[in-house]
Amino acid sequence: MDEREIANHVLVVVDQAAYRNAARRILGVHLAVGGRRVFDLERLREVFADVARGTVAEGAQLLVKVLPVRHHCQNCGRDFEASRADCPCPECGHPHTEMMGGEELRLLKVEFDDSAA
Ligand SMILES: [Zn+2]
Repeated sequence: MDEREIANHVLVVVDQAAYRNAARRILGVHLAVGGRRVFDLERLREVFADVARGTVAEGAQLLVKVLPVRHHCQNCGRDFEASRADCPCPECGHPHTEMMGGEELRLLKVEFDDSAA
């Protein structure tokens, strides 16, 4: 999933949310993205602004929270969180730990402009 696919996916979801809430405009979109997904935040913002043009989400601000990735050490069994992919176990120092999840893409909150009736 690249930036354009993420942006399109987000747009579909927020468009439905706006419809359900009878909102005519979206001001902000709060996203949580797993730290294992590799994408360029600036590029995502650009692409989102591009695909949102002419929709209820035109001009909406995209706020992205990157979630830490959980790791599991096969050597000592410890679970821990880390911000990057390849990282040694803090408990036993084993260099190879297994990543768990980290590919989430969750919509946390959508801010609507409901001032105009
Ligand atoms: Zn370990």
